[in-house]
Parts: sequence; C-alpha cells; structure tokens
Amino acid sequence: MKFPLSSAVIGSVLVLACSPSEPQLSHADALKATALSLAALTEQNAQFEQFKNAFLEETWSLYPNYGVYVGYYQHDGELTVPNAEFKQRETEYLQGNLAKLKEFDVALLSAANATDLALIQNQLESSLWYNNTLKSDEWDPSNYNVAGVFGLILNTDYKPLDERLLTIKQRLSKVPEYYVAAQQNITVPTLEHTDLAIQQSQGALGVFEKSIPESLVKSTLSAEQKLAFSPLLHEAVNGIKGYIEFLQNKRSILVDGGAKDFRIGAALYEQKFKYDIVSDYTAKELYDKAVIAKQQLHSDMIAITKQLWPTYFADEPMPAIELVAVKQLIDHLSVQHVKREDFVDEIRRQMPIIEEYIIEKDLLDLDPSRPLVVRETPEYQRGVAGASVNAPGPYDATANTYYNVTPLDDYTEEQAESYLREYNHWVLQVLNIHEALPGHYAQLVHANKSPSKIKSIFGNGAMVEGWAVYSEKMMLESGYGNNEPEMWLMYSKWNLRVVVNTILDYSVQALGMTKEQGLDLLINQAFQEQTEAEGKWRRATLSQVQLTSYFNGFAEIYAFREELKDKMGDKFNLKDFHNKFLSYGNAPVPVIRKLMLAELGLK
Ligand code: ZN
Ligand code: ZN
Repeated sequence: MKFPLSSAVIGSVLVLACSPSEPQLSHADALKATALSLAALTEQNAQFEQFKNAFLEETWSLYPNYGVYVGYYQHDGELTVPNAEFKQRETEYLQGNLAKLKEFDVALLSAANATDLALIQNQLESSLWYNNTLKSDEWDPSNYNVAGVFGLILNTDYKPLDERLLTIKQRLSKVPEYYVAAQQNITVPTLEHTDLAIQQSQGALGVFEKSIPESLVKSTLSAEQKLAFSPLLHEAVNGIKGYIEFLQNKRSILVDGGAKDFRIGAALYEQKFKYDIVSDYTAKELYDKAVIAKQQLHSDMIAITKQLWPTYFADEPMPAIELVAVKQLIDHLSVQHVKREDFVDEIRRQMPIIEEYIIEKDLLDLDPSRPLVVRETPEYQRGVAGASVNAPGPYDATANTYYNVTPLDDYTEEQAESYLREYNHWVLQVLNIHEALPGHYAQLVHANKSPSKIKSIFGNGAMVEGWAVYSEKMMLESGYGNNEPEMWLMYSKWNLRVVVNTILDYSVQALGMTKEQGLDLLINQAFQEQTEAEGKWRRATLSQVQLTSYFNGFAEIYAFREELKDKMGDKFNLKDFHNKFLSYGNAPVPVIRKLMLAELGLK
C-alpha cells in the first residue's frame, strides 16, 4: 500500500488526540436529522467510529513500518517481508474493508465521517489498483529498502535506547528474507529506478555498518547482548549487498535495450492521477489548464517588465526576446536579499507582521492561543536547507507546532548567495505565506479543530499543498505587498514553478517529452537554474503525478471560490469561505466542495 502523504508531509499536517466517541453533528447534519431519524443517524455514526478504530488497528498490524512513521509503535519490532503470503493478507485486508465500507449509508454520516469514509475508500481502491494494475513493485526496485525505519527507530526517542536496540535486533533477523523476496518480485525494471535503488541501497549500508554499531557502544546493554548483534548485522549487510549485486547484474542486461520505459503512458497516468489526486479534473484537463496558466503568467510578467524596465535599466534597450528581458529583470532584482546570517531572524521578524495583516484585512480566523514557534531546524532533521512546518504526529500528543528554518551555515559563499537570490526580499515573504500564515500552519490549526486520525494519515496532499499555494495568490490579491509590480513579478516566477511542474510531469510521462525539451521548458520558460532544472527532470523520470498536486489543489480551490462568488453574489464573504473550507480538514477539494454546496443549500 502506498500512503498519500510522505512522512515529511505527515510531519507537517498532523492532528492529535483520540477521536471523540460521540459523533459531532454539524448544522446541516442537524437539519438532515429532522427528516431522518436522529437515532439512526447517531447509531450509524457510532458504528462508523468503531469501524475506524478497528480499521486503523488492522492497518498498523499489517503495515508496521507505516505505523512507525506515524508514531504508532505497537508493532515496531516486526519487519514485513513482501512475499506471496503478505500479498495475500494485504488483498484480504483491502477487499474486506471495502466491503465493510459499503455497509454504511453515507447520507446518515456527519460531514466529518463522510469525508473520512471517502478518504478510506479511495485509499483502499487505490492500493488495489497499485497492486493489480500499476504493479510498480515489479519494476521499481527502489520500493525495497529497509534502512528508513531502522534509522527512524534509532533516532526517535520514544523509549529508552536499550529497548529500541532490542527492537532493532528483532527486526534485523528478517532482513535477509526481505531482500530475497524483493529479488523475486522484480521482473523487468526501468533503468532509472534501478540506478536509484542501487544508490539508495548503498546509502542504506551506513545504518548497519555505522549507525547501529555506534548506538550499541553508547547503550548500557551487556557485553554479551551487544555481541549477539554481530552475526545479525553481518547478515543484514550481506542481504543488502546481495540486492545491490542483483541489481547491477540486471542493469547490465537493461542497458542493452531490455529495460522498461520509465514513462507510464497516458492511460495509466490518467488512472494514477484519479487515485493520487482525487480531482474533478482529468489529468489531461489539468494539463490544458496549466498550459493556459503558463501563457497568462508569461504575459503578466512581460507587461510588468515593460513597465519597470526604465526604472532599473534606464540607459539599456530592452532585449528583443521578451522572456530574456523578464529573466534579466528578475536577476537584477534578486540581488535584494537578506544577509546570510540574518536569514532565520528575518523570518522570525516577518511572522507577526503577516499575522497582523491577516487580522486587519479580516481574511481568516487565527488562533492566538496556538502561536507559531519559529526555530532553527534541529540538527537531526536537517537535510536540505529551507523552511517547513513541523507538527506532532497523530499518535503523539505533543502540543507544539514549529516553523523549522535551516540556517545557511553549511553553505559555501557561492551556494548561500544563490540560495538567497532565490529567496530574495519578495520570494521570502511568499515562502512565509506558503509555509506558515495563512498557508500550512493556519490550515493545520483549523484542521485540528475537528481532529481526525484518518485525515491526518490518509489526508489529501493536493488539498494541503493547494491551500498553501492558493493562500499566496489570495494574499497578494488582497493587497499584501502594496500591489508593487516587483512583488507580482516575483510571485509570478514562484507560481510559474508550480504550473510548469504540472506541464512537465504530464508531458514527460504521458506525451513522451525528451530531456532536451524538458530542460528548455524549465530553464527558458520558467527561469530556473541548470542544477534545479536537472534535478526536476530527474524527479519527473522517477515519480508520476505527484508533481501536479500543488497546481491541481490550487486550481480547484480557486475555481471553487469563484464559483461560490458567482452563486452567492453579495452574500459571499471571503473570511467565511476560508473558515468553512478549512473546517473539513485534509479532505479532497471535490469532496469538500460537494459537502459545502449541500450545506449552503446551493448545489
Ligand atoms: Zn547577494
Ligand atoms: Zn507546501
């Protein structure tokens, strides 16, 4: 089963507390209740709560790894071997729970439960499709890697180190079997995923050759207990090395033309889009929208460039190729950025200003009792530089939510300069809007008002990212940045990235775009640097659909808002729209739209 939210995203979306056993009924639910029997309504919701609890227990016992990712540690010592027996168990789980869902009458469920049901159903149907149709477990060798969860257990302080090491020991005994099953599952892989798997498996060795032995030294286990790890670690390392060797042998056959194409093609792409995104659009429709959005952004940027050119390049004629002129102006303006040592402080300084602005403009309810804590990213979480919102997991009741900002300490002078130009005076503000207010952090606070483990675990990534991207444009439209053309220009460049990700992904996976065409799109039409473009190309060869989630969520939320404005006329209120929209939690936008229209009596 694939989980829609990566662990990184899970970290940024999460909800706490146990779900209330007493179902909460909304206003519309209450109205429905007058027509239907209140008793039947309560009964149905109570039964659904029971189902959800049992379903989650079953989920974590079938997928102990995912349990560890969300902070559910009851099965942490179990390493699942992806063999035929497991696949059988999984199929029974998926089909069995789909059958159970059919027994519920959605019309009798509260909005919170109806959205939970939609998410679970999509998750199960999606997994069946992945297993029976996409079958990436046969062609993507990077599906198989045990290191992540070992590392997580080692680095998460959920119980004393000695106990965590004994848990690790239990898991270690299954590693050789795991890689035997992996080799049996791989039939004809793609070259790109084979290379990725070789690289990642080589990286995995460090956990068993270095991290675990180092932690053993630090532990207070007896000498005898420590010694018992040696043969297990040795066999685990051999299992991984055997897998690498297997892949290298495969690879030499693949390069002679036997590899599977990494492009999944238009038909499979369309289906994967349906399951991964959950949209009212088809993938092709979204692609068409992105092409139009790109043209619109280009013409906006060209108009701004013409307007600003005399201010910044008085003596210089504008280049004949308009996009070249746009790029020249962006480069010229990007020099305005904070000093590297002030990066974290500047973000800290901006947050109350943005918050004040949202309150003054009456854009969204904020919760003053849940202030956002800006901090330097803890060492153990630092990978790439950047900023992200970090919230506790669904099984972790810790209250604080952090805005993690990684200082640029590890960068060379040149790297820091390039990074700071990217996050220049204007883009840094847009980043804060996206990550914190009224983006991810505000969305999280609203979602937490009706805590749902289902929505935090299986939540819709397109809605979560779409909201953050939507909030950027909404802020600028409301006058944030005083409608300065420079702000709109930089915003447009930033938004162009999201739009072009969608075009690139669909073009590569469904339309056969070449690398040369892809780099031209990214560099010449979206103003990206060579390194960034190369990285994005690689990502477009290794994943499918995920790159479209930002633009899809953004496009759907924006279109829904405009639809409501049309339908409600004078009665439309932006703040009410935002508060209501966010109250449904991390559900797919089409599901929220349907419930909201019904609740407003609009259809
Ligand atoms: Zn500089
Ligand atoms: Zn985001």
